[in-house]
Amino acid sequence: MSDTHQHHRARKRFGQNFLHDAGVIHRILRAIHPREGERLLEIGPGQGALTEGLLSSGAQLDVIELDRDLIPILNGKFAAEPRFHLHQGDALKFDFQRLEPAPHSLRVVGNLPYNISTPLIFHLLENAALIRDMHFMLQKEVVKRLAAGPGGGDWGRLSIMVQYHCRVEHLFDVGPGAFNPPPKVDSAIVRLVPHEVLPHPAKDHQLLERIVREAFNQRRKTLRNTLKALMPASAIEAAGVDGSLRPEQLDLAAFVRLADQLADHPTPADSN
Ligand code: SAM
Repeated sequence: MSDTHQHHRARKRFGQNFLHDAGVIHRILRAIHPREGERLLEIGPGQGALTEGLLSSGAQLDVIELDRDLIPILNGKFAAEPRFHLHQGDALKFDFQRLEPAPHSLRVVGNLPYNISTPLIFHLLENAALIRDMHFMLQKEVVKRLAAGPGGGDWGRLSIMVQYHCRVEHLFDVGPGAFNPPPKVDSAIVRLVPHEVLPHPAKDHQLLERIVREAFNQRRKTLRNTLKALMPASAIEAAGVDGSLRPEQLDLAAFVRLADQLADHPTPADSN
């Protein structure tokens, strides 16, 4: 075939695994269910496998693509449509405010490059108030961690910090054969819906992050041990948490209680 897009060779450093399975593409589009007039943002449109269906819904679509070689291909396919806006650059550095979306309106989608998926989700969560929902293709292992509940090995920093902001749904799995080239891992589609009102707001968000990071640095140890540098055993008890538990046994609400305890009673060692 002599179509221009057939000549693009997938680049590993950009995490390029292009979707080619029409059934899977259709299933993803059905899960997103874009509608006329909505504001959509696609991260990493690649050669446009999802872009076409997103745009044909009548929605307004911004896309961010890092690979300069893909820009003419995307423009050739979609630039004639005034609802389409292409931004060349790094999604990790993109200022989402620039799109001036109404609060809780932006619908973010992407078959993400797996090497940047975690930092990208954290970058998006900083703008959670702009976002209505997010649908991502991710490594299945990452989706399991995002959707995990307390008590198992998948529950950790990623689950807690994402669930602080969002409701998480593991929608369906996608095998390597749906992509070209096929990735070495299984993939899955996840839906993240930012809460309009946080169910467990922390007094100081950074303290929550710090406690969660500290606690899971050594997930086999007891909280009393891992949090020693941040708060004494008595403060853990005062937060209504059993210090002999391991971090993976605590739910989000308990981590927030620990952070609030620390916010109200900073320990001297912590005040610098
Ligand atoms: N959406 C297309 C599809 O499903 O066939 C492509 C998916 S591919 C897994 C990931 C895409 O993200 C590639 O087009 C890649 O060039 C792009 N990409 C990689 N890093 C990026 C970044 N930091 N910012 C924006 N796009 C990026």
